Amino acid sequence: MEKKRRPLLAANWKMYKTLSEMEKYLSSFLGLVAGIDDRDIMLAPNYTCLNRMVELLNGSNVKAAAQNMFYQDEGAFTGEVSPGMLLDIGIDIVIIGHSERRHIFHEDDELINKKISSAISHGMTPVFCIGETLDEREAGETSHVLENQIRLGLKGLKNIDIHKIVIAYEPVWAIGTGKTASLEQIQEAHRLVRDRVRELAGEDIAENLRILYGGSVKPANVKDIMSLDDVDGALVGGASLEPESFARIVRFEDN
Ligand code: PEP
Repeated sequence: MEKKRRPLLAANWKMYKTLSEMEKYLSSFLGLVAGIDDRDIMLAPNYTCLNRMVELLNGSNVKAAAQNMFYQDEGAFTGEVSPGMLLDIGIDIVIIGHSERRHIFHEDDELINKKISSAISHGMTPVFCIGETLDEREAGETSHVLENQIRLGLKGLKNIDIHKIVIAYEPVWAIGTGKTASLEQIQEAHRLVRDRVRELAGEDIAENLRILYGGSVKPANVKDIMSLDDVDGALVGGASLEPESFARIVRFEDN
């Protein structure tokens, strides 16, 4: 399947896997995806696995990413990790504003904007997550919610900065629930995201922007989802926890 933009298949392991479980995963996964060079593959484990994962991925076609970070360089921020600490161990991709950060840890658009700006100013790639809740969708507010999240999340950024961002559209009601948005809902939301970015940053940046879909992606639905015009990859939680399953997703294998 020929895509306009280089696909990115990203795994979000959330708060799963110990160091030894991560090592076992990689000993199988790296073989399953060896030689794939027409798409980007990314794994975001918890912080305690990151350093070792970077070492194990050295020379492979898979990159490690962080699930979150704080925006300050250093200071009295107990429990937080800075951009410099991630860069120090070779991490330059970071998920920002995941719905679990927004809803469980009450991160708001202002904080998310600070984190995105900080990631950019440190030369990192933020994977900026947006998405509506079920109530918002049922109240017909999806476009309004997505527009607001984009406007506030990217506030103050220059076009050249927006160029470095990946956006992940993840309807909250489809994350970890087994419910996938319909293909029409996904394409409509992705088109809207690209249109808003076009208004903010121009044609070139919008056309090159990678927009990932997240929400119960699995081998059985990845091929159809990836066939949509404005879908450039996937952010995968549950189905990325088994190497065979995520490798099939990476390959867009539906059987
Ligand atoms: C996610 O964690 O971003 C996600 C989409 O999870 P799941 O694939 O389990 O719905």
